[in-house]
Amino acid sequence: MSAAPPVSITAIHNARLASGALVDIAIDGETVVAVVPAGTPLPETGGETLDLAGYVVTAAGAEPHGHLDKSQSWDAIQPPFGDLVRAIESWQAFAQTLDEDETLDRARSTALRMLASGITAVRTHVDLLHGADALIGVRALVRLREELRGLMDIELVALGGPTVPDAVFDAALDAGVDLVGGAPHLADDPIADLDRLIAIARRRDVGLDLHTDESLAGADTLTAYAAAVTGWHRPRTAGHCVRLSMMPTEDLAALADDVRAADIGIIALPITNLYLQGWDADHAVPRGIAPIGRLKTAGVRVAAGADNVRDPFNPVGRCDHLETASLLVAAGHLAPEDAVDAVTTGARDVMGLPFAGPVAGARADLVAVRAASLGETVAFASADRVVLHRGRVVARTTVTTRIAAPSAPAPTTAPPADAPAPALPTLVPTGK
Ligand SMILES: [Zn+2]
Repeated sequence: MSAAPPVSITAIHNARLASGALVDIAIDGETVVAVVPAGTPLPETGGETLDLAGYVVTAAGAEPHGHLDKSQSWDAIQPPFGDLVRAIESWQAFAQTLDEDETLDRARSTALRMLASGITAVRTHVDLLHGADALIGVRALVRLREELRGLMDIELVALGGPTVPDAVFDAALDAGVDLVGGAPHLADDPIADLDRLIAIARRRDVGLDLHTDESLAGADTLTAYAAAVTGWHRPRTAGHCVRLSMMPTEDLAALADDVRAADIGIIALPITNLYLQGWDADHAVPRGIAPIGRLKTAGVRVAAGADNVRDPFNPVGRCDHLETASLLVAAGHLAPEDAVDAVTTGARDVMGLPFAGPVAGARADLVAVRAASLGETVAFASADRVVLHRGRVVARTTVTTRIAAPSAPAPTTAPPADAPAPALPTLVPTGK
């Protein structure tokens, strides 16, 4: 990884769109101003241009539900494999010893991996801690947001349980946190915790992003959440919603009507819920992925993210929105186009960010992935990518692969003792 200032781009040539069309793209500042068939003359600006022949261009990725403060703590914690309760116990023991600079280092590493993948907007939860200093993680992530300003957009959500005093939420919001969050389904009195979180958000006039109904058969807080925020003017989202994956079609349809009326964005988190859910089942293991395909059909705003990365809640993860998209296809049964929408424009939509993508008038947050088609971007997820944030190149990864030529047939007779050694196989670049 090397650092140079971002370069503003005024034109992109020979990029393939999700539709398969080959286009040129004109950019003015932060905005896409024209998308035309490749080879069509664009206004001459004298600015920097990119030739993206061999790449597919989409809206940049967005991570609508991360935990940068927890990320990449797996090796330090060495937690047992297990479900959500065990993960929370492991994390809370480690959190007693949390260090601001160490948290910042882990969070930065994760954020930059995301940026290299093409994720230019991240909404991350940050734990309000139980020790004497509740804001260690908050301060680390506020610093990170400042460090990376101009490269990616970072939003912070204060994540606190029922024992965290209102004053600590207020201190976090005063310190720069953007939204109120929590996990009311985990509280002894889920509706009381839900009501309190909504009250804090209303009093501070900020958005809400709640962990909601993250169990296969536990508390229903989404119904009450929807009733409470219908008609409100701030962004509101519900992450996980695992319980919805177990609902029969007719029950889900009724709830979807309420969620749509409340304009709550539903965020599926496939990789983390595939890991955390279903530990009680020794066969027919449920997947635990919020049914965003059915919800989208019902008119609900939907998105998907990765949630945790290499921490007690998820030991794996590549910080790549296309990994999430691939899981939505294989484990969530979405079409590749819908899966990519969920991790790009859908994610930006539930976060309340401006529409982005290779569309005239859209924000020029784009990712180009070396591939022949949109399906290939999801399937192969080449690391060979170019990432634009607000019209500027903020990351570029170039991959070179060499594969040996197939072996020559074995000789039928032994070569003479003085014959030269056979040449090594020729290595040929694959272009991917
Ligand atoms: Zn989460």
